[in-house]
Amino acid sequence: MPERPPFAIRARLVTPASDGGARHELDGLLEVDAGGRIGAVRAFAELEGTPETPVVDLRPWVLLPGLVDLHAHLPQLPNAGLGAGLDLLTWLERYIFPLERGFDEATAERLAPAAFRALAAAGTTTAVLYGAVYEPSLDASFRAAEAHGIRAVIGKVMMDRVTYDDTLRPADILDLSLRQSADLCARWHGRDGGRLRYAFTPRFAVSCTADLLRESAALAGSTGAYWQTHLSEDLGELAEVARLFPESSDYLDVYDRAEGLGKRSILAHAIHLSDREILRMAESGSRVAHCPASNLFLASGAMRLARYLEAGVLVGLGSDVAAGPELSIFGAMRSGAYTQSALRVAGDSRPVLGPLDWLRMGTLEGARALGLEGVIGSLEAGKEADFIALDPSLTVPLPGVVAPADDPASSDAEALISRLIFRAHPAMVRGAWVRGRRLAGPV
Ligand SMILES: [Zn+2]
Repeated sequence: MPERPPFAIRARLVTPASDGGARHELDGLLEVDAGGRIGAVRAFAELEGTPETPVVDLRPWVLLPGLVDLHAHLPQLPNAGLGAGLDLLTWLERYIFPLERGFDEATAERLAPAAFRALAAAGTTTAVLYGAVYEPSLDASFRAAEAHGIRAVIGKVMMDRVTYDDTLRPADILDLSLRQSADLCARWHGRDGGRLRYAFTPRFAVSCTADLLRESAALAGSTGAYWQTHLSEDLGELAEVARLFPESSDYLDVYDRAEGLGKRSILAHAIHLSDREILRMAESGSRVAHCPASNLFLASGAMRLARYLEAGVLVGLGSDVAAGPELSIFGAMRSGAYTQSALRVAGDSRPVLGPLDWLRMGTLEGARALGLEGVIGSLEAGKEADFIALDPSLTVPLPGVVAPADDPASSDAEALISRLIFRAHPAMVRGAWVRGRRLAGPV
């Protein structure tokens, strides 16, 4: 990493802690060293004498760890917010496949930089993305991420049951898809000290043969890259998977037989799993990218999240744009909380998560899902300095009427995070940093 002048930020700090719970400093200091790592996190009052590095005073803003989005689709962003209430397969045909078909290199060069700025503006400093199917558009997307500074995991979408290129012979698609994916992985996985990583990305079982699933999982295993796909999102999809893979006992078994499960596997949605599948997810260490805003938008289902957590499944959050209508992981937290509330109304007596639990899921649990909990996910000394600054005044219900000192959110971390989740403002993220370098996007 290039050396930059060290600096410190004085602000209110809230972060999950690696050993459990949360840390809250009403007047804190985050010190970033020349290598882009967090040198120290402390109460400002602990500072003795004059600080050695410049201190940027961002009070009354709040610093949080950068958000981790475990699941979004880069080519789909332009159609975010369209098609609410359609079933998954109809929505794909109408709004998504045309966009992905057109996401060539020139389109990626035009849209990807804007997408990374939009992610940073939403507070996301780590994004796990599906690209298009075309190899040059993936190179263009990686180049844009490299230049922007965001931390990103990206993969070329792999499909061999359907194709966007009618000139290809069906028999050639599998080999071509595997070779292009392996080449992209060789070029980009681990670039810039691990800031950019590759994920082998079979779209889902409906559009992939067992050969593609198995071969892509083998490539992920041999390269140390990630393997990502969709699992159990929609009931129509489940029926189609059962028809295409009659030998499998259930949906998860399709991926299990392909040897696709494990700690580097990120499975999006996973909302209709049986008890057997949930146990197998936990046993295999496979990660869930929970995308509740998407699941409500397409009426795909309501994940019984508490069952997964009780079973020990590692769950992080995804926006799933464009099935999710917004990039904000705060929006995913809000939709997740509403989903859990609705399940409770419907008779599920399991406890719902609190605001700080959702913050943890959108930061440190996302980092754990990527095996990066020692690198990012919380504001703790020694980690790389991925963080965001927010202006909480934009979430206050009656600005200027209630004195800040009388507002519970001004002193209580749980109340503050509750406001950021349930009264999120599109402009509340005022800055986003990766390795101490400020990202373009927030205004
Ligand atoms: Zn998706």
